[in-house]
Parts: sequence; structure tokens; C-alpha cells
Amino acid sequence: MQESTIQGGPAKPGAVLSHADGSFLTGAKFHWRMLALEMLDLINNRHRTADFLGTRANFIQDRIRILALLFAATILLWIGVDYFTIADRGTVVRLAVLRTLCAALYLGVAFLGAKPHDLPRARLKLACLVTLPCLFYIAARFVLEDGGATGALVVYAFFPFVTVAQLGVFSLPLLEGLALAAPAFVTLTVVDAHFASLLSLAFLGNLTLLVLLTCLALWASMSELHMLLRLYRQATRDPLTGLFNRGALMERTRLELDHNQRNGHELCVLLFDLDKFKHINDDYGHLTGDAVLQTFAQILERASRQSDLIGRYGGEEFLAVLPRTNTADAELLAEQIRKACADAEVTNPDGDKVRFTTSVGVARLKPNETVMALLRRVDESLYQAKEAGRDCVILAA
Ligand code: GH3
Ligand code: MG
Ligand code: MG
Repeated sequence: MQESTIQGGPAKPGAVLSHADGSFLTGAKFHWRMLALEMLDLINNRHRTADFLGTRANFIQDRIRILALLFAATILLWIGVDYFTIADRGTVVRLAVLRTLCAALYLGVAFLGAKPHDLPRARLKLACLVTLPCLFYIAARFVLEDGGATGALVVYAFFPFVTVAQLGVFSLPLLEGLALAAPAFVTLTVVDAHFASLLSLAFLGNLTLLVLLTCLALWASMSELHMLLRLYRQATRDPLTGLFNRGALMERTRLELDHNQRNGHELCVLLFDLDKFKHINDDYGHLTGDAVLQTFAQILERASRQSDLIGRYGGEEFLAVLPRTNTADAELLAEQIRKACADAEVTNPDGDKVRFTTSVGVARLKPNETVMALLRRVDESLYQAKEAGRDCVILAA
């Protein structure tokens, strides 16, 4: 039997998401757990939803485009500066060829292969964005040394620093930021090892500056990520259960339906409504009612797969969208959840053991069916489940 205990009131908003042992976390324990989760969020991507990662991929691709265009323009315009500052015309021409090639690659990064919600692709482009200035710096350094134009080196030496500085605008978690900063460190070390000395004051000075800039850029990046995650959660999550709120749920349901229809996949939806919920509020109070809603959300989360979309549809109504799922599997899942609810028990501060049940409507998406038509059908089947005596699953026609 699944049991949830409330100590001194209901769990704080979002508590359901933060633990897996079935008991609600409260007070200091809850805050420490949330703090730990937030810290993990800033280290890597493992604790984020596919949805957030997709949104972040779009955001990264937009910024990559702006930066790549900016760098492409600057790197071309600088040909004029080379012309007036470098006496050897052969070197100027070689640098101009190099600059044109680099600008073309930047344009490629800006415009080629952008695909919405594709994080691996966004990461690949980000890797190109940080590698390009490093490669340009190495090539330019060879051209300048060959042409004896070492006086101009001073304006080229900033490329490794530019590489790490741009990391500040991508809201990166720590590990990703460190991996993307690595090319700048390798470049500085390799080039200095080749042309100067790794023990020179200039190299140590540059290295210190690079470390400082990396720390500042990653700090800015992680702070922005932290803020984004908070705002994103507040905008898309129901504060009581931690599940998607209705707005976010509807938006994602539309996308999911489009995707499955385009690819000819089966998709089913489950609509839940807790039975006689008003009586629970009336008999035990609203705080206990809230705890029941949180327990139901937990049951739903445990039963669903990573690819399923689950959210709070209304007061005590919840929706689950199951991509690539046939009717038999959807009915089976609905029955499992119904049974888990019937077996669950919530203990309130007075020691009352509160039981609850749910009615479930199940519907399979028809070809060319709209979201509204599908929701209307599943709502009708839920209504039939209520008519049939509640605590049961009914499949829509
Ligand atoms: P049925 O079996 O026909 O669904 O009956 P019901 O009592 O569940 O349905 P009804 O629509 O009459 O009541 C729903 C109740 O859910 C009324 C409302 O106060 C309560 N409710 C909605 N949102 C919340 C919430 O966030 N917390 C609590 N505690 N109660 C809520
Ligand atoms: Mg209702
Ligand atoms: Mg109800």
C-alpha cells in the first residue's frame, strides 16, 4: 500500500517532484533537497525535461546565429586593418584568404542545419563556434610569424579570450561550459609551446587571464541558466503537484498530436477525474484535499514513461498523453493507475486515513482528428465512467 504522510501541513509546492520515497518533504528538509536539486541542475543536463532541453536548444541556436554573423562581419572588416598595419602585402593577402574562409564557415554555422528543439545539433554548432576562432588564431599566428609581421600579433592574441567570453551568453551548465572552454586552453598552450616558452611571463599572464575570463563567463552562464530554469518552471508547472499546468499541457499536446499524426504513430489520451473529491475537502479540509492531489500526481508520474505527457487539466482533473501507444496498452495503464489510487492512503495530521478513487476516460487519436475533438471524446468517456458508478475505466467510441 502506498502511503503519504503529512507532518504539520501539506507538502510545499513542487514537493512531489523532489522525492521518490512516497513521503512528503517539509520545512528545512524540503529546502535542502530543493537546493541540492538546483545545484545538480547547474552542473549538468540530466535532471531536466526533454521539453526544457528543446526550448534551450532553440535559444542556443538563436544566439549562435547572432554571434556567428557578428564574427563573420568583424573578421571580414578587419582585412582593412591588416592592410594598414601590416607592411608585407603577401601576408595581408594570405590573412585575407584565411579571414574569408573563416567568415564563410561562420556563415555556415549561422545558417546551416538549424533544426528546432534539436539539442545535439545545437551543441555541435556551439562546438564549431568555439573551435573556429581557435583554429583561425593558430593559422593566423603561423602566417604572421612566417611573414615576420609579429607586431600585428597583439590584435590576434585575443582570439582564445573571445572563445571563452562568448560562453557567457549561452546559459550553460558547468560541465558543458568547461568542455567548451577547453579548446581555448589547448590553443593557447600549443601555440605558445611552439612559438615561445610555456614558462614565459607572457604565457603565464595570458593563462591567468584566460582562467579568470572562463570563471566569469561560466558564472554568468550558470546564473542565467538558474534564472531561466526558475522562470520556466514557474511558467509551465502547476505549483501544487509539480506537473505541467493547463497552458503548457495544451501547447505540448498540440505539438505531440501533430508529430504523431505526421509520422503515422498511434497516440492515446487518458483523462482522470478524482471521484467525490468535494467530499474529501468537506470531510477532512482543503489541506488534506491538496495532499490527495499530490499523491495522485505521484502515482501518475510513477506510472508514466519519460515520453508521456502528464499534467493537471483542471482542479481534480488530470490528462496523460501517451505517444506511440495502442488502445490495449493505454487501457492497461489506465487500469493500473486506477488500482494504484484505490490502494493508496493519505494520512493527515489528525491521523485520519484518507482513501480516494479515480474515474478514467481513454481515447485513441483518429486520423486528422483535432485536439479539441479528441478531448471532447475523452471527456465524454470520462462522463460515462462517472455514470457507470465511478472508479472505472471507459474507452471512447
Ligand atoms: P465527481 O465524482 O462527480 O467528480 O465529484 P467531485 O466532488 O469530484 O466533483 P466536483 O466538481 O463537484 O468537485 C470538485 C472539487 O475539487 C471542488 C473543488 O473545491 C475541488 N478542488 C479543485 N481544485 C482543488 C485544489 O487545488 N485543492 C483542493 N483541496 N480542492 C480542489
Ligand atoms: Mg471534476
Ligand atoms: Mg471529481
